[in-house]
Amino acid sequence: MTHADTPSLVIAVDGTSGSGKSSTSRGVAERLGLRYLDTGAMFRALTWWLLREGVDVRDEAAVAAVAHRPAIESGTDPLAPTITVDGEDVSVAIRGEDVTAAVSPVSVVPEVRARLLALQREVIGDGGIVVEGRDIGSVVWPQAEVKVYLSADPDARAQRRTAEQGGTDVASTQQSLLERDRIDSGRATAPLTVAEGAVHVDSTHLTLAEVIDRIVGLASEAGRA
Ligand code: C5P
Repeated sequence: MTHADTPSLVIAVDGTSGSGKSSTSRGVAERLGLRYLDTGAMFRALTWWLLREGVDVRDEAAVAAVAHRPAIESGTDPLAPTITVDGEDVSVAIRGEDVTAAVSPVSVVPEVRARLLALQREVIGDGGIVVEGRDIGSVVWPQAEVKVYLSADPDARAQRRTAEQGGTDVASTQQSLLERDRIDSGRATAPLTVAEGAVHVDSTHLTLAEVIDRIVGLASEAGRA
């Protein structure tokens, strides 16, 4: 069964930084013929724009005052997801260290979350999509048919992420991941949490293919794949 037969299916994939959400979510979307939305990329895109505009990202009031300004658009093809800010392709720029270091403090600001929440719900629309983030199953789309909380040991996450980036400094990657987890889990608005009804998948000892199979299996159990 494909997306065409199940337009309302929404699969929410939340979890810690570097737990494999993106590769997993794209793989699941591809297998089931669904669209794919990376909500983290939206927070990164807004952060990239704030840095370029010279806004002090630690000044909540300054961030809140301009959060509505840039036009952020996400392309939802799992084989080639895109993200633009005011028409400019920022898919590479948003992965930079400067953005990674600033994105969690920016994501704490309620005006930022409200703005991106509206955009995210607009993209989800009639469904037929895998959505990854931190608060998808809890806040953005609590009615999702399938909810997954993906985690992995910090060592495994740091090693995978360092390898992805072609780096060697596993310790500093781990520190950066844990710092983001700390801020993301501790914020007042829409913190990272295991949503009600979510299935916890620990990917530490699983291959990517195994994690994808597991989630496709959950969609199938829900009668949707
Ligand atoms: O998923 P990714 O690591 O690219 O997300 C970057 C940051 O965006 C997260 O560390 C978090 O601060 C924020 N984020 C969020 N809510 C989401 C997705 C991402 O606060 N739904």
